[in-house]
Amino acid sequence: MDNQLFRTIMGSFATGVTVITTQVENEVYGMTANAFMSVSLEPKLVAISIGDQAKMHSYINSSKRFAINILTANQLELSKQFAGQLNSNLEVAFDYYQEHPILKNSLAVITCELFNQIDAGDHTIFIGKVIGVKHEPSEPLLFFGGKYQELNK
Ligand code: FAD
Repeated sequence: MDNQLFRTIMGSFATGVTVITTQVENEVYGMTANAFMSVSLEPKLVAISIGDQAKMHSYINSSKRFAINILTANQLELSKQFAGQLNSNLEVAFDYYQEHPILKNSLAVITCELFNQIDAGDHTIFIGKVIGVKHEPSEPLLFFGGKYQELNK
């Protein structure tokens, strides 16, 4: 099967956008990700899929914990920053929630301890046990057809 066709088909599934954050030896790292899903209610588990080449892959292997920051439509620039899509780097100030670094003003934050990880081709599925959640209702940032989108636009 053609890779481009596969990408196009996967991109036709509309998602929100998250930034995964973690901390290793006092350094905070972030990475934009939309491969995120809810997995289990009892216990509360979520999953993210991270490319094996991404630096975030080794950071989570070291820290064994991460936060999922669900972005609002106002955080488009942060999504680009943490996907390496900006020409000049943004200085990002982080908040702390339950000792996890998180992005200020996100729509929601889910803090996790690493529960399990599964090799899946050129990605690894990291399953997180949910430790805490935070919610500030707002318009979500969306991703569809390889482009950022907003509701009703
Ligand atoms: P880097 O490339 O080093 O970091 C990414 C960017 O974040 C760099 O520009 C870096 O300067 C910046 N950054 C990191 N920490 C900080 C900090 N503390 N302060 C300021 N800036 C910082 N890839 C996946 O594996 N899984 C996905 O689900 C996924 N979904 C995506 C969804 C979207 C909408 C987009 C646009 C990209 C997605 N990607 C996904 C691709 C992924 O975001 C990029 O490949 C990313 O650059 C990989 O980051 P990295 O961990 O290798 O680290």
